Amino acid sequence: MTPVLEQPYAYRMRTLVEPDWTRFPGWRDVTEAQWRDAQWQRSHCVKNVRQLRDLMGDLLTDEFYADLERDQNERATMSMLVPPQMLNTMVPATGEGDAGMPSAGTAYTAAFYADPVRRYMLPVFSDRRTDWPSHPKAQRDSLHEHDMWAVEGLTHRYPTKVLAELLPTCPQYCGHCTRMDLVGNSTPTVTKLKFAMKPVDRHQAMLDYLAATPTVRDVVVSGGDVANLPWKNLESFLDKLLEIENIRDIRLATKALMALPQHWGAPDVVEGVGRITAKARARGVHVAIHTHVNHANSVTPLVAETARSLMDAGLFNIRNQGVLMRGVNDSPEALLDLCFALQDNASITPYYFYMCDMIPFSEHWRLSLAEAQHLQHSIMGYLPGFATPRIVCDVPFVGKRWVNQVEEYDREHGISYWRKNYRTSIEAADVDALSREYVYYDPIYTLPETGRQWWARESNAEAAHAAAMDAAASSRLASAQSLV
Ligand code: SF4
Repeated sequence: MTPVLEQPYAYRMRTLVEPDWTRFPGWRDVTEAQWRDAQWQRSHCVKNVRQLRDLMGDLLTDEFYADLERDQNERATMSMLVPPQMLNTMVPATGEGDAGMPSAGTAYTAAFYADPVRRYMLPVFSDRRTDWPSHPKAQRDSLHEHDMWAVEGLTHRYPTKVLAELLPTCPQYCGHCTRMDLVGNSTPTVTKLKFAMKPVDRHQAMLDYLAATPTVRDVVVSGGDVANLPWKNLESFLDKLLEIENIRDIRLATKALMALPQHWGAPDVVEGVGRITAKARARGVHVAIHTHVNHANSVTPLVAETARSLMDAGLFNIRNQGVLMRGVNDSPEALLDLCFALQDNASITPYYFYMCDMIPFSEHWRLSLAEAQHLQHSIMGYLPGFATPRIVCDVPFVGKRWVNQVEEYDREHGISYWRKNYRTSIEAADVDALSREYVYYDPIYTLPETGRQWWARESNAEAAHAAAMDAAASSRLASAQSLV
């Protein structure tokens, strides 16, 4: 008899379970009512190592806390801010088979180290690469969003759509944040850029630009995370946006739907979403939420309940834009488990997975283009076509390109070459913009030995050149001073 071979991915419908938060010593007495309260969640976020220790106590070893502290001081590009809802999904105790769960100390710490949500929300020093912690081409604003600001905070990169950064904060800070240049508090390694204009003037300048630019029809209302804007301020901005005839799509960018569902499920917010979506529908405008979920463990019953209540309130859609990261979701199983949890249980459509951007200290998270292409191949055919996410590379000065759209790919040196079919707002007079090749780089440690050696030589040469330029500048300064 011919054996029946198993599918590479075995689908099963998940039953969502809210992990039990009272397993943490610091939340032993926290009630359901407190847990569901957005203000309680915000005021109990973990912002530093001491607060994590107060919460977790002896569950984690001293070595873990020291590893985290060192990362905060020497590597972190984002300050620590983890809401209880997210912490509760790390090493989740679900009631099923908890007997085998490590209870504390070394075994628990090993499980915590390996946890996918921990790996991007609480990065530790030992997670990072020591050979190439940053790619030599890494940059703070790696997508050059700031360069494309039409007015402060409004990035006009694509012909018909813009990104409006209404505020520079979030209720949670992700270690890999692509907007690390601007978002969040400064860290010992990164002094953040500050908006110069007052929020009210900046928002008005964005609205004026959109009213004066009829070629733009689609606005990503973002930040930061719009969940950090008081609802009445967000509603007022959206009301004015809906007055602009050319705006047909509005997408609210908020990771908080997953990290702080208590905010989006609050009655006043749900009612406000109802008012805005009713007005939008009457004008033929689509209002959607774009959220950011990276692992199936983050999709809890509370997240699903909140998403459904927002859809019931009138949202056109909720879509997920995750980030592809090593140790978080870099397998077909992890990606498909997440997509099915979103699609089956939470009314959230899987939409994109972005390759992690080339910001400083992100090399341990980043995958090569070849790995991303393999993952795209592996997840095809399981989900409905409309819910099969595209894995995209956000190419500097280009924008999102599907990973299979690459023009040329030098695998030895890990350099991919891309083209585009539109001009960004800063290229109106650039005749070569559409024929030029734009580049993206694989992490160096994923390259063959010859490629790694090439990068070592290149960066030595670059360092020597920079030192020579510094020496020449110092000598010019010294001569100028001697003439004074
Ligand atoms: S929620 Fe988005 S903007 Fe905020 S820290 Fe995370 S990745 Fe950055």
